[in-house]
Amino acid sequence: MLRSQRERRVRTRTTYTGEPISTAGRHLARMGEDEPPIPAAAEEQAALETRLLAKWGYTEYRAWDVPFDRSADRRRKAYPPFGFRYVVPLTNELQISVHPDLLPQFIDRVLPSVDPDSGEVWGIPGLRARVHNRYVLLARPGMDARIKIWVRRTHWDNAVARALQGLELDMVAWLTRPDEWTLEETLFIERYGHLYDYRVVGNAFISGLLRRCHALHGQVYTRYWHLWMDSVVKLEWAGGLTHRVVIDRLQDPDFGLQAALEDETWQCRCEETEGDRRNPCYWATLIDHSGLELDLRRHPIGIWEETTDSRWHDGGEG
Ligand SMILES: [Zn+2]
Repeated sequence: MLRSQRERRVRTRTTYTGEPISTAGRHLARMGEDEPPIPAAAEEQAALETRLLAKWGYTEYRAWDVPFDRSADRRRKAYPPFGFRYVVPLTNELQISVHPDLLPQFIDRVLPSVDPDSGEVWGIPGLRARVHNRYVLLARPGMDARIKIWVRRTHWDNAVARALQGLELDMVAWLTRPDEWTLEETLFIERYGHLYDYRVVGNAFISGLLRRCHALHGQVYTRYWHLWMDSVVKLEWAGGLTHRVVIDRLQDPDFGLQAALEDETWQCRCEETEGDRRNPCYWATLIDHSGLELDLRRHPIGIWEETTDSRWHDGGEG
């Protein structure tokens, strides 16, 4: 492969992952040139990433202390897709840099808490955190899959303290039982584990989307991205890239996912209808080869809602 081809491969990968050029370059250099430039997750890894998106995909794009109504301000801060400044995809690991504003919310939604009386479990059952100086490893004991969060120990501890305010310690399973599942979590998975599990092929597709989440993002201000899962997966965003750009990226033969438009004749009208709230270009559906549907819904935003503050990329860690 020519040097210019290698450089293009690195740059294109960063469009999908948001990684710094040096990070993408380092990881690609370790891989064979005929391997896919964005590695697919192994089976258990894809299942964990699917659960992660199920719990986190509808995050609120606001700092922990900012009340909800203030987040409707005209000049909203811009965040990256799902609040992830970048992701680094590996076969048995996904590394993530979470925007610091959203870290307490991430801990609150993703790490499990249990109600010993009702047996209810919130977050990802069994998930535990191992804190290192520059990163935190999230994994479920007995399962071969992990999420590595790039964060300094002091920032993590600070975010944990905020997230746990008002919670009874005996509910916080991941702190009280750091090395094992609680009975409540085991029972919960036995009963409800089929939810948010799209079998091997469907999980691979959802994990593939997470590993390419920056394909949903460009230079244009986007208010939010929300992902919901039931029988179909719904991804909504407001402003930002058109369907056309997102679909082209997701269908790229080297960097994309294997998915086809449900209606091959569908045409994106986002550009012509920008600002037209009555007749926007709203909806397109992609289908992967397992038959799982991904609805792509783009909401228009008015000029008055736009912000020039898109400086979320304030330096990553790791
Ligand atoms: Zn469109």
